[in-house]
Amino acid sequence: MLATAVSRGIASGKAVCLFGTKRQYFLTRISPTAVDDEVARFHGAVAAACEQLSRLVNDGDPAARSSAGIFDAHLLMLEHSTLASDVESFIRKRLVSAEWALRQIAEDFADKQSSISDANLRDRVSDFEDVCERVLSSLDGGGIDLPTIPPNSVIVASIIRPSTLIELGRHRPVAIVTEHGGWTSHSFIMAREMKIPAVTGVKSALRLIRDDMPLLVDGYSGRLVINPTAAAVAGSTAFDRSATPASSANLHGSTTADGREIVLRANVDRLDQGFSLSSAGTKGIGLLRSEYLFPNIIGGLPGEQTQFEAFDRVAEACGPDGVRIRTFDLHVDHLTYLAEDRELNPALGLRAIRLSFADEKRFREQIRAILRANSRGNVSIVLPMISGVADITRVRRLIAEEKQVLFDNGSPLPDLPVGAMIEVPAAVMTIDNIVKHVDFICLGTNDLVQYLLAADRDNEAVAANYQTLHPSVIRSISSVIRAADQVGISTVVCGEMAGSPFYLPLLIGLGAREFSMNPNSLNSIRSVVAGISFEEANDLARHVATFETAEEIEKYLRDFYSDNWPHLQPLSPVTARSE
Ligand code: PEP
Ligand code: MG
Repeated sequence: MLATAVSRGIASGKAVCLFGTKRQYFLTRISPTAVDDEVARFHGAVAAACEQLSRLVNDGDPAARSSAGIFDAHLLMLEHSTLASDVESFIRKRLVSAEWALRQIAEDFADKQSSISDANLRDRVSDFEDVCERVLSSLDGGGIDLPTIPPNSVIVASIIRPSTLIELGRHRPVAIVTEHGGWTSHSFIMAREMKIPAVTGVKSALRLIRDDMPLLVDGYSGRLVINPTAAAVAGSTAFDRSATPASSANLHGSTTADGREIVLRANVDRLDQGFSLSSAGTKGIGLLRSEYLFPNIIGGLPGEQTQFEAFDRVAEACGPDGVRIRTFDLHVDHLTYLAEDRELNPALGLRAIRLSFADEKRFREQIRAILRANSRGNVSIVLPMISGVADITRVRRLIAEEKQVLFDNGSPLPDLPVGAMIEVPAAVMTIDNIVKHVDFICLGTNDLVQYLLAADRDNEAVAANYQTLHPSVIRSISSVIRAADQVGISTVVCGEMAGSPFYLPLLIGLGAREFSMNPNSLNSIRSVVAGISFEEANDLARHVATFETAEEIEKYLRDFYSDNWPHLQPLSPVTARSE
C-alpha cells in the first residue's frame, strides 16, 4: 500500500503495535515472579486515578457543575465496577503488563456496549474509555523505563511521540509506520537523525496490522508491504544499499563554486549526538532543541542544576564554534497527563515562549542554567515562537536580572547573545524592528510554513496545503534575510528546508549564508553548495519571485536544476528533500 515517505531507507521486520497517546505501550509479557508487583502497580494507578477524580469533584470550580457530575460518574465506575478485578485476573492469567491487560478489558467492554441500541448505555463507552485513559496515565507516573522491543521490530502506531522514540531509541526499531504525521513532525525529524526509515499516512494501520506481522517499509517511495515475499525483501534491501550516497569528494569545504562562503551547523536534540561534530566539519550546534534532552519532561520540568549539567556538557564538547540553546519549545499537552488540562488547539495556545512566560519562576531557572553553561563564552540563547519586540525585551530583562544575581553570588559570566526564532507571521511583519533587538535570527521554516498557511505540520490530511514553496513563504524568507543583513546580523535557516538539497539553492539565492540541519544531511548539502554558484542561485531566486503559485515554482526549480546542474541530479523534493 502507498503511504508518505518521511524518513529514507528500506527495512523489513516484525510489527510491534504501539498504543496510548501519552506514555505509549505495546504487548509486554512478564514472568510469573513479576505478577504480584505488576498487580500492585496497577492498583496503585487505580488509587491515584480515584484520588485525582475525587479532587476534581470536590475542589472543582462550583460553576463547572456539569463536569463535576461527569467526574463523579467516572469515580463510581472506577470504584464500583469489576474493571479493577477483571484487569487483575487478566494480568495473572495471561502474564502481561498492566497497560496491555487494561487495554484488552477496555476493548472487550467497547465491543459489547457498541452493539447495544440504548444510546445512554452506548455513551458509557466513551466514559469508560476516559476512565481507562486516566488509569493508563497514572501507570505512567512511576517513571518506569519502556520495556525492550525485540530485535528487528517495525513500530506501528497512530502517532509516535518524540519521547517514545527517544526511549525506544535505546533498542532501535528498524522502521516506523504511523497513521498520522508530516515531514516536519518532530518524531520524523528525529527518525531521520536516527536513520530509521519511516512512512506515515497509513489509514487504519492499527486495525490492518497485528503484532508480529512481517512488514517491508520503503522510506524512499512510501511503500508499505504487509507479509512481503522473501524476494521482495531481498530486492528492496539490495536497492537500499545501492541508494546509499557515495561519500562526497568535498567533505570539508562549504563554499559555492564562485567562492561564497556558506556556514553549516548542526541541529541537535539528544545528548548522545553532537560530540563528533567538529570531525563532521560543522560550525557547532545551530539549534539545540533543549526540551528533547529531557525525555521525561511530562513528569515535571528539570531543575536548574539538571539543565545546567546537560547544557554544560554540550557546550564543553562544542568548543569555540559553540552552541545555540533554544529555550523549551513545549506546549501544555507535553506537561500533563490530565485530559482536562489539555488545550483544544495547542499550536495556537500556551506554546514555547508563551508557556515560559506563564511560569516565570521556572523560566528564570532555565535562563540561569543557560547563563552558567556560558562560562566559556560559547553559548547563545534562542527564543522560540517570538511574535514581536515585546517578547524580546521581556526576556532581555530577565536575562539581565539573573545575570546580576549570579554576579552578586560571585559568578561573573560573559554576555549571552540572544537570537529570535522567526516562525510566526507577526514576527515576519515586524522583522525590521525585531532585528534591532537581537544578536542573530533563526529562521524556523517548519513552523513558519505551518503558521503562514494555517496548515498543521503534524497532520497528513493537510500535507498538500503545507506548501514550502508558497510565494508567501519565499517572500517572508527573503524579507527576513534582507532585514537582518541591513543591520549586520546573521540569519541561520534551521528548519528542515535547510537540510534539503532541493530547497538549498533557492535559499542561497535568496541570500542565506548560514544553515543548521540534521547532521545526516551535511554531506549531501556540502556537495550541492560546491556544485552551484551564487550568481546562478541568485538568478534562480529572482525568477522564482515572479511566479504566483507553489506549483509553478516547483516546476521552475526542477527545470532549472536539470538544465543547469545536471551533475547534481537527482534534485527533486521527493528524492532529495533530505538525507
Ligand atoms: C522550525 O520550526 O523550523 C524549527 C527549526 O523548530 P522546530 O522544528 O523544533 O519547531
Ligand atoms: Mg519551530
